[in-house]
Amino acid sequence: MKKVGIYIHIPFCKQKCYYCDFISYCNKDYLICDYVKCLKTELKEVANVIKYNCKYNNSEPVVIDTIYIGGGTPSYIDSKYIKEIMETINKSYELDLEEATIEVNPKTVDELKLKTYKEAGINRLSIGMQETKDEILKKIGRIHTYSDFLKTYRIARKIGFDNINIDIMIGLPNQKLEDVKDTINKVIELNPEHISLYSLILEENTKLYELVKNKEITLETDEIERRMYHSARKNLNRNGYKQYEISNFSKKGYESKHNLNCWNQNEYIGFGVASHSYTDNIRYSNIESIEQYIENYKQNKQENNIIFHEKQNEQSKMMEYIMLNLRKIKGINICEFKKVFKDDVMNIFGEKISKLHNQKLIKISRSNIALTIKGLDLANIVWQEFV
Ligand code: SF4
Repeated sequence: MKKVGIYIHIPFCKQKCYYCDFISYCNKDYLICDYVKCLKTELKEVANVIKYNCKYNNSEPVVIDTIYIGGGTPSYIDSKYIKEIMETINKSYELDLEEATIEVNPKTVDELKLKTYKEAGINRLSIGMQETKDEILKKIGRIHTYSDFLKTYRIARKIGFDNINIDIMIGLPNQKLEDVKDTINKVIELNPEHISLYSLILEENTKLYELVKNKEITLETDEIERRMYHSARKNLNRNGYKQYEISNFSKKGYESKHNLNCWNQNEYIGFGVASHSYTDNIRYSNIESIEQYIENYKQNKQENNIIFHEKQNEQSKMMEYIMLNLRKIKGINICEFKKVFKDDVMNIFGEKISKLHNQKLIKISRSNIALTIKGLDLANIVWQEFV
């Protein structure tokens, strides 16, 4: 029995945040209904392929253990669509569900929507809060205020969500170290089960990029951004939020199972535009154009929605395994590596690992190889060794 995760991409938002380069649309609401129809078809068709392969090609049976509905802003669309998507998954797949997450953004969600999610089987919320200072939220084009976030959080608790993640961003325009400290303290007080801490990445083709380029906005230096990260990291660790990945912290037992599966190089299937999949050592994705995605379904040419990325060989699979596992604070489990690849990690990557160790970017113990504190800041240099 093979455990596989499902990712569903809902690419609609009320407004484009200034820093965002995700595949998300804020002016294509007229496509929502058609898009969800295609999503449901895609879910059913993939389920049929899995069943067929199992029956006629002796493939291992598949059971779904995690669902992640991300975006975009999944909470922006009518919750009846989320319910339909969950029902389709329930009817089409064998489930042994450990976690079903939906991303929600304050100001796009109300009590009724949250209740619908709960009834549909969603047991984890990921709320995009980012900051507690309204002035900073406005600077990055978020549509909500801190009090909108608090309202969403309290309703979620009231109706019984007992597994909630809060997203926080650092390195934002006008954000000072003191602001980050204040945000972290306020979030700790709220007592969520999980906290994600993301650094702002200035992407080309975003409004923020233009604003910074035209010197209308200045960002803090990398050095101060790193101080924000480490101050937040220490405070979270001190307060019972154990860091288990570069950007993720949780109370014991509340690590994101869906994301951990990805970092453990387990399989997942993505549905909807721009979603990525990893099955049978093959990485592939769906196309990014929502119009084309829908059109291909209308013309019964949905195979054109798929873009093949790579079929991994043993070497590329090992390299990727190293990179993914090094994202985790525990790092690579040396025994586990040997079990999967039938060889010792030091036999294969000894030279690279020693080099990174000499640079003090990774630490090596009897059981694990993991990033050092310095490595957390310079993880890109570590990844470069394994691409
Ligand atoms: S809500 Fe998320 S996906 Fe939508 S524009 Fe903002 S950052 Fe991008």
